[in-house]
Amino acid sequence: QDYKWTKPPEWCPGCGHFGILQALLQVFAELDMDPSRTVLVSGIGCSSRLPHYVRTISAHTIHGRAIPFAIGLKLANPNLEVMVVGGDGDLFAIGGNHILGAGRRNVDFTVILMDNAVYGLTRGQAGPTLPLGLQPKALSKPNPQADLNPLLIALASGFTFIARSYSYDIKYTAKMIKEAILHKGSAIVQVFSPCVTYNNIMTREWYEKRVYKLDDDPTWDPVVHDEREDYEKKKRAIEKILEPDRFALGVLYKNELVPTFEERYSAMYDPNYLRLPPALQPVEKDGRSVVDFYKLMSDRLL
Ligand code: SF4
Ligand code: MG
Repeated sequence: QDYKWTKPPEWCPGCGHFGILQALLQVFAELDMDPSRTVLVSGIGCSSRLPHYVRTISAHTIHGRAIPFAIGLKLANPNLEVMVVGGDGDLFAIGGNHILGAGRRNVDFTVILMDNAVYGLTRGQAGPTLPLGLQPKALSKPNPQADLNPLLIALASGFTFIARSYSYDIKYTAKMIKEAILHKGSAIVQVFSPCVTYNNIMTREWYEKRVYKLDDDPTWDPVVHDEREDYEKKKRAIEKILEPDRFALGVLYKNELVPTFEERYSAMYDPNYLRLPPALQPVEKDGRSVVDFYKLMSDRLL
């Protein structure tokens, strides 16, 4: 099964995003993903073009809103494999609030953050992950705002799988994306993906001086095997996430003991939800809606 779309990507030569696309295509082939049940959702940005280059169902939505769109799809039909791809600006500036909601629910979906610390599509303005004081070439003065730490926010919000990779290492990026897809719960992979056109500071050389792999440490085990371990595992993950001027690549935290939103919903409200989710229910009969909207609304309001 070839998932590659014939259309060539509209990215600058050398852009880090090519590596993420390549990794994603490899993972889809390896997992033999069903293109009719796999959905790639994006917002706006250079990275958000990615769904156009993969043969699956896709939705290129509006700026910052890929996550609520994706969660709506997943909850309407939990049988779908739903993934969000987006940049640091789209997912953590304009769309930042949706990360918080996603983590609290722990919906079983995957977010791939294609992080280059700038707004490439609109010519290189400072993104939310650009460190304070840096001045990539599109800025007339050094960045006066501090950067945020996306993985710390994701962990604090309740994401149950947190990983990091670097896009020029396609093999490792594929490994992280694969683990994220297979994880049960909300997963995020931050992939450092250099913008070769506008971020002339955080370049290949800049990252390669700073990244290292957690896999090289045989004692590193990010998995919560028992709820009592959760506090310690989170503490160790936070320590790695906050490490100054060094970037640990690999799985930082993983906990499959937390129930997903889909599991909570079926346990608390509707035991038939997973078997007969809204997307599989009939909405009309003989041209008339089968839904009693008056009853639906009063049930919700009471
Ligand atoms: Fe990639 Fe930057 Fe070019 Fe956008 S502007 S395609 S992020 S190199
Ligand atoms: Mg960006």
